[in-house]
Amino acid sequence: MPERHAEVPEDYDAIIIGAGIIGACTAYELARRGWRTLNVDRAPAAGYGSTGSSCAIIRTHYSTLDGAAMAYEGFHYWSDWAAYIAVQDERGLAVFRKTGCLVMKTEHNRFLEPICGHMDTLGIPWRPLTPAQIRERLPFYDLRRFGPPRRRDDPAFATASGGDIAGAVLFPDAGYVTDPQLATHNVQRAAEAHGATFRFNAQVVRIDRDTERVRGVVLRSGEALRAAVVVNVAGPHSAKINRMAGVEDGMRVRTRALKQEVAHVPTPPGVDFESDGLVTSDGDIGCYCRPEMGNHILIGSEDPACDEREWVDPDDYDRSFSEQWQTQVCRVAQRIPSLGIPSRAQGVVDLYDVSDDWIPIYDKSDLAGFYMAIGTSGNQFKNAPVAGAMMAELIEACQAGRDHDRDPVSHRLRYLDRSVDIGFYSRRREINPESSFSVLG
Ligand SMILES: Cc1cc2nc3c(=O)[nH]c(=O)nc-3n(C[C@H](O)[C@H](O)[C@H](O)COP(=O)(O)OP(=O)(O)OC[C@H]3O[C@@H](n4cnc5c(N)ncnc54)[C@H](O)[C@@H]3O)c2cc1C
Repeated sequence: MPERHAEVPEDYDAIIIGAGIIGACTAYELARRGWRTLNVDRAPAAGYGSTGSSCAIIRTHYSTLDGAAMAYEGFHYWSDWAAYIAVQDERGLAVFRKTGCLVMKTEHNRFLEPICGHMDTLGIPWRPLTPAQIRERLPFYDLRRFGPPRRRDDPAFATASGGDIAGAVLFPDAGYVTDPQLATHNVQRAAEAHGATFRFNAQVVRIDRDTERVRGVVLRSGEALRAAVVVNVAGPHSAKINRMAGVEDGMRVRTRALKQEVAHVPTPPGVDFESDGLVTSDGDIGCYCRPEMGNHILIGSEDPACDEREWVDPDDYDRSFSEQWQTQVCRVAQRIPSLGIPSRAQGVVDLYDVSDDWIPIYDKSDLAGFYMAIGTSGNQFKNAPVAGAMMAELIEACQAGRDHDRDPVSHRLRYLDRSVDIGFYSRRREINPESSFSVLG
């Protein structure tokens, strides 16, 4: 329970800016601990920010051991979703489809040896597949090597680069959540059952602070709301909120918004990818895929080095599809030659909130009472329930006087027999060289 010792009464114990999946999970965990929380979101409902556009892929293969541990913990929450939510939602519960995830071995990922080492350390199952075994699972695949990924204006685009790919690894504990917005609504309902409140169409335009600590937020309507704790979970707007709070100078790792396009294309004739497909990650062509409703294939980019990154102002960017959409579809057409390339682009255009090393920041700030769960870099939907639990523990410890910068709080995972050092996600960390510096985390 929070200590209350304000001279002016506070409206809430904690105000959480953002009601995406991580903001909602943070509220749920704090509310369970007896905190009076308010989530404010400029959008009309929970999960309408980048969460709503998420491909919501749940997978365990991360390039750092801590990243993989958190993802495997997250996998267990999604597998046990009804138990986590523990209330009825009038809209029903989100569904996690456990399809498994097939990852191609490439030179770039060092044939997955380091990642499989992390899997072994953590007891996460994986199985190597030969090209012949991949063909059994995906008979419509062309397994020639095309890598490294290229731009479409490169004369060598779609030219096989010699031999077949080396094989793949199948990670069975993986899949995707069919409706990330509904999942967020589920968490909202769970939090509300513990007294949490949510306000929508409410944009924070100022953070109230004095020299010592945060005091609350001011909304566009002019209304001021007071709380001893304010948490920045504003997704791609995270840097703007940090600037409002005046905390950026105390950060070694920062965040910015990156435009992303996701393509939805019909599956080739004779293939039932919606029922039989699985999540794939294919560094040889720079794309990941998963089944999508209506027997479509969803295609996302793995941000290969040849692609220009489009950093944008989250309040002022072009939400239309660009060349990138077609590039992603043409890349997958190398692997699936029977894939038709539709003339009309369908899918999603939205933003990642990317940190300098593509690893999130789950931390306090230099301003007492101001916290952040940001920089989720296109890969933290799966970890949201874990992030919520970590944030609640961090906030409670720091508000009780712990100096997390000097003496990092650790979080005991609920499913895995291990703890996470929350200091790993510090805003003051050195850039982590083990990171993939891409959406792969
Ligand atoms: C295209 C795409 C694909 C992705 N695919 C995957 C995937 O397959 N697997 C995976 O694990 N992750 C994936 N991610 C990442 C994942 O979706 C995010 O990490 C996660 O949803 C972030 O949740 P959040 O709650 O932090 O942020 P958000 O969902 O962005 O929520 C932030 C909220 O803050 C609100 N806000 C912003 N500014 C203000 C303000 N001033 N006042 C009030 N409210 C404000 C916004 O309206 C928004 O609702 C993907 C992301 C994208 C964009």
